[in-house]
Amino acid sequence: MCRFCCCTSSLYAQPHNRPAKHIFFIFLINRTGATCREQTTASVGPWEVVQRTLNGSQFYTYSICNVEEREQDNWLRTTFIQRHPLASRVFVELKFIVRDCNSFDGASLICKETFNLYTSESDADVGTTFRKSQFKKVATIAPDEITGKNEMHINTETRVVDGLSRKGFYLAFQDIGACIALLSVRVFYKTCPGTVQNLATFPETVAGAENQPLTEVSGVCVDNAASEELPRIYCTEEGKWAVQVGQCQCKPGYEEVKDTCQECRPGSFKAEASSDACEPCPANTDTLEHGAVLCACKDGFFRAPTDPSTGPCSGPPSAPRDLSAVPQPSVGRLILSWTPPEDTGGRNDITYSVECQRCDGVVCHPCGERVRYEPASMKLTEARVSVSELEAHLNYTFIVEAHSGVSQLAGEAQRPPSRSNVTIFLHYTGETSTSLALSWDVSPRPRPQLNIRYKLTYHKKDDNLDKTTYTVLTLDKNSAQIKDLAPGTAYLFRVQALGSDDNSEGSRMEEHFETLTEGTEQNPCTSFTSFMQMYGCFYLFIPFFFVFRKRNSHTRQGPEDTYFSTPEQLKPLKTYVDPHTYEDPNVAVLKFATEIHPSHITKQKVIGAGEFGEVYRGILKAPGRKEVAVAIKTLKPGYTEKQRQDFLSEASIMGQFSHQNIIRLEGVVTKFKHAMIVTEYMENGALDRYLRDHDGEISSFQLVGMLRGIAAGMKYLSDMSYVHRDLAARNILVNNNMECKVSDFGLSRVLEDDPEGTYTTSGGKIPIRWTAPEAIAYRKFTSASDVWSFGIVMWEVMAFGERPYWDMSNHEVMKAINEAFRLPAPMDCPSAVYQLMLQCWLQDRAKRPRFGDIVSLLDKLLRSPESLKTIADFDPRVSIRLPSTSGSDGSPFRSVSEWLESIKMSQYSENFTCAGIVTMEQVLQMKTEDIKNIGVRLPGHLKRIAYSILGLKDQTSTLSVFAV
Ligand code: AMP
Repeated sequence: MCRFCCCTSSLYAQPHNRPAKHIFFIFLINRTGATCREQTTASVGPWEVVQRTLNGSQFYTYSICNVEEREQDNWLRTTFIQRHPLASRVFVELKFIVRDCNSFDGASLICKETFNLYTSESDADVGTTFRKSQFKKVATIAPDEITGKNEMHINTETRVVDGLSRKGFYLAFQDIGACIALLSVRVFYKTCPGTVQNLATFPETVAGAENQPLTEVSGVCVDNAASEELPRIYCTEEGKWAVQVGQCQCKPGYEEVKDTCQECRPGSFKAEASSDACEPCPANTDTLEHGAVLCACKDGFFRAPTDPSTGPCSGPPSAPRDLSAVPQPSVGRLILSWTPPEDTGGRNDITYSVECQRCDGVVCHPCGERVRYEPASMKLTEARVSVSELEAHLNYTFIVEAHSGVSQLAGEAQRPPSRSNVTIFLHYTGETSTSLALSWDVSPRPRPQLNIRYKLTYHKKDDNLDKTTYTVLTLDKNSAQIKDLAPGTAYLFRVQALGSDDNSEGSRMEEHFETLTEGTEQNPCTSFTSFMQMYGCFYLFIPFFFVFRKRNSHTRQGPEDTYFSTPEQLKPLKTYVDPHTYEDPNVAVLKFATEIHPSHITKQKVIGAGEFGEVYRGILKAPGRKEVAVAIKTLKPGYTEKQRQDFLSEASIMGQFSHQNIIRLEGVVTKFKHAMIVTEYMENGALDRYLRDHDGEISSFQLVGMLRGIAAGMKYLSDMSYVHRDLAARNILVNNNMECKVSDFGLSRVLEDDPEGTYTTSGGKIPIRWTAPEAIAYRKFTSASDVWSFGIVMWEVMAFGERPYWDMSNHEVMKAINEAFRLPAPMDCPSAVYQLMLQCWLQDRAKRPRFGDIVSLLDKLLRSPESLKTIADFDPRVSIRLPSTSGSDGSPFRSVSEWLESIKMSQYSENFTCAGIVTMEQVLQMKTEDIKNIGVRLPGHLKRIAYSILGLKDQTSTLSVFAV
């Protein structure tokens, strides 16, 4: 056994810089020395530490050179080399010089040029103990180049020692008779260096052994990165990383910056774990935070539920523009059209809804389900809708609203304007025409400084476009009378507002109208005129306010015409014939009325009770004619012949009339036991009740429209020299179109039929409140006395069916009239209308206007609705009368319900109680807004209550009637 000398000295040490290799040991080697010789098989000299100079630098080598002696077995062993627990495979790199055997003079055959490398594993340092048998041979080391006499060659050889498993090992070099100088021994194992790849950190890993060429290594995602699967990578036996599995990505709000995940900067975001960089916040969004996952919508902008949270935010659309309403009378509909909003809010899912309201003052009501929209009223994608089933004489407001996916999200408070309104009033006129009268107005009103002019262009609608002849008029007023038009021809009119420089200002509007065929019987039902008032909210600029009216050129009365007619204008068309002039009243009936066979009449329902019997609603189906709804007046059984004649006299009178505003007689049944009078059916019944039922719901404009109809009917009657004598709202009937028709004719009607009829000192039975003083005083019934009555009807209409002179007695009324007092203006009554009433109540009947004048004036007011805006003075103490200011005995009201009852508003008792308004003191504190808030919605009721409170505050309870 060789004893090992512990001649330890540093052989050689240097850092190993080659990549993927790892210097591990700076080590010492022991050399067998003489003392050990007996322990070795070697018989000649030991390894020596020799100082050498190589390339000018000095260093030490372990050398041996026993080339001339046989059977050399000289060992040189390292110190104990600790093994890295994972390094089962180490590399041994040797630098050495081997002398050419031939370089020795007389070189013997025993000279060797190789040496052997051995290794021995151990769990502990065994010190100098050396047992050759414990070493295993690793390799024979042969030089690539041997060193001759003159030159020196340093060889480098690397060998692998594999399969190591114990705590350490020794290396040993066996010389078998060569001349060797060992310059350095480097022992190392290979690792894959710790690395960050694709945002995963992998630790330094010892490269695998021969039987395990790839080492699988698990990694960890860097901070703020994540991976769905565990990141893995392989370390090759060469110490190189290969094939990474599992990708780490920066978490939401982070982006990759040089193998790290950094927070997104303010103004940018990242919604998902990905390899992408943070993106700038999309349109209308922002974030001030670092590491934003999403950008929040800026104020006023929203994301619809279906919008991606990473997308831009959008605002609600602005209002639809240029909303216009074009009536198409020929097909009974109205076309609403508009331009899409200027600002779509950045969206393309704009839809529109159209809402119809009937508005009066501050309160609006939905139009109900009757109004039809084509294609629909909601979710319209086109900027146009056709509206039909509108009724005449009603003020309609259409609200067109633009919607988008974010409209709902934009709360009411911050909702930007997205609605536009157009208000339209439609009515039928009683006149036909061969020429056309047009007037219009601009709304919103042009700026005052703007000297507005209008360009009116028209041409025949059906003209071949190439040959169309246009007529262009420039006007500085908003009306025109177009004459010399071809009969029965449609014309297209276009009105355009011009600025002071005659440049176009605002939008323009087109409409076509048709003249009547020559000789056509006037049928106002078929002449549909439109009266549109349009106004814009917000951005809306609605161009024109049109009054298109058609009438006969020969009856034209221009706006400049005087109110009161000249005698020549009052030529009757034909004269009414008093049935009394017929000896046999039955002959008169047959002359003026058509006999109907009772089998053609179907009675459906009792709708009223007249003096002579029940009144039914029913159906008339005459042979060869369409079914029509009719009212059937019956004569009750047990009548006398006188009663029968009186009953039928109404038909004799009615049958002589043919006017849009006079109830039309369909016919009579006289040849059968049960006599009947059949008239057109008026769906809304008597006007007084109708007004009371719609208190406050009808605009002044519409009320005036109704009065105009009554006046036209009365003009017709007066032109026929017929004096009605009992003109009152209860004797006016209203149809579905809010058209008013005068009814209740007959010889004895006032005496027999009218509950208002009162016997006067002159013996007659007279409806005192409606009757002119001269008729009361000395039975002077004339058209002028009918005009007085018409004035009272005007008051009834404007006061929504209020009883004239309230609960004053007939005697008090007559006394007041004789003392020159007159009814005061009803609440909200246009001044011009009240002035006309006062004219009708002139004591001197000759000075009262004629019905023709009244029709003209009302027409003029209707053509200029502005003229209705000036409201007559209203004194709540008078118009709401005593009960509004105190109890009937003049004392203050004891309870809220007593007060409400006195002003006929008992229906709101519960509203007051529920709102906790239980004392009159509380009532006195109420403002209009409070009244509205407790649920009083109808403007008329609102005003009645508000005015009553006003009067209560005043505490004046004098009844006065205006003096003329
Ligand atoms: P009169 O006998 O004409 O006063 O009619 C009595 C009631 O019958 C009236 O007050 C109306 O309510 C109703 N009435 C009469 N004529 C008609 C009609 N043509 N259409 C509808 N209702 C009518």
